Amino acid sequence: MYKPVSFENGERKWTNFLEICKGCGICIEKCPQKCLKFSEDNMGYYSTPAVDCDIDRCIVCKTCEMFCPDVAINVNKKP
Ligand code: SF4
Ligand code: SF4
Repeated sequence: MYKPVSFENGERKWTNFLEICKGCGICIEKCPQKCLKFSEDNMGYYSTPAVDCDIDRCIVCKTCEMFCPDVAINVNKKP
């Protein structure tokens, strides 16, 4: 079973659920900050590249989360 992979700093956390990410790239295309890219380290459901996040550039707008057709992203500000 794939484990989710998270990118985080002191203010926010972005998680990709590898077991359901199909590598469609919609999140990468939609991110207004251009802080998402295909991963060189992690693979998704179809053994295609999953997604990495440059968390320091993320503004937690949740666009990626809303557009992901497979609900494979969770992004939040830390309390
Ligand atoms: S929350 Fe917004 S800025 Fe952060 S990765 Fe998703 S689309 Fe990009
Ligand atoms: S939109 Fe969802 S399924 Fe598609 S690459 Fe991004 S995280 Fe994976």
